[in-house]
Amino acid sequence: MSPSRCAAAVLPRPQAVVTVTTIDLKPPGPGEVLLRIEACGLCHSDLFIASLERLARTPLVLGHEGIGRIEAVGPGVSDWIPGDRAGVTFLGTTCGSCEWCLSGRRRFCPEQTNFGYTLAGALAEYTVAPAAGLVRVPADLPAAVAAPLCCAGWTARGALREAGLQPGQSVALFGLGGLGHLALEIARLQGLRVAAVDVSEEKIEFARARGAEIALSGPDPGRVLQKEQGGVDAAIVFTAAASAVSQAFRSLRPNGTLVLVGLSRSQYELPLVETVTRGIAIRGSYLGTRQDLEETFRLLGAGAVRPFVHTHELAETPALLDQMRCGGLMGRAVILF
Ligand SMILES: [Zn+2]
Ligand SMILES: [Zn+2]
Repeated sequence: MSPSRCAAAVLPRPQAVVTVTTIDLKPPGPGEVLLRIEACGLCHSDLFIASLERLARTPLVLGHEGIGRIEAVGPGVSDWIPGDRAGVTFLGTTCGSCEWCLSGRRRFCPEQTNFGYTLAGALAEYTVAPAAGLVRVPADLPAAVAAPLCCAGWTARGALREAGLQPGQSVALFGLGGLGHLALEIARLQGLRVAAVDVSEEKIEFARARGAEIALSGPDPGRVLQKEQGGVDAAIVFTAAASAVSQAFRSLRPNGTLVLVGLSRSQYELPLVETVTRGIAIRGSYLGTRQDLEETFRLLGAGAVRPFVHTHELAETPALLDQMRCGGLMGRAVILF
């Protein structure tokens, strides 16, 4: 028997306060599955989505870092069966036939749907989801630590790939929250020298304990890295604070790469002369490839990455989002169902 109602964290309308409420569930239709969510992480992008003036759908169930099990499948679903472990990421369905879909870059498909944005998300006891948008998750991974890999881990790994570094090169990570702390682990596995930068002393201590060679929380970290280390080969900005972009730029060696990941609605300004004469590459990085995600799950299974999570009940979601807005959460907050 499919449940007809369940609890969920819902954005009632654009720019409103997220509330925990009861939602109606329909049985899965053609191509859909009913997923019982085990765990879902809270991502800074949930706040970004809630801050937008216009959304394709509200009320909107947020959440794009979910791990669950298939409870029931709708007509025409042949590749999932009840009991299968599935992950909900930000990337839902894509067209399957454009140049991006055909070249392993589904994340740039103009027809993409997105969980917790244009589709109902995973911050709910159950969700009805298009089967084609879900990812396979190894059955033995604990849900609470696997959940943050669906966005934070995946995005961190994708950003490091975009940075294009070789073992022995250096990377500065700006923002040591949910994404940054996983990027630190993955970068160390790749043999990179890591500098961690955050305004929070606590997060900097944490980064040092997790193996960051340099950890900075003071003023003008870009200049410090430039002066004391001769700069870094790449700087990745995970925080949504726009001021970090200019600091990250300042930290780079000639020919360095600036990778932008954290989302905010602000603009950034960078010096043209230095960009040109120092040969700086600037690129955005959004999610990653399917292989990036599979590799991240594999690293977790092997004990090579250790997401720092603290688990909570669904009812705590609004308060946790407030804390996240102020940068007050360590690692990743995960809702356990
Ligand atoms: Zn996210
Ligand atoms: Zn496409």
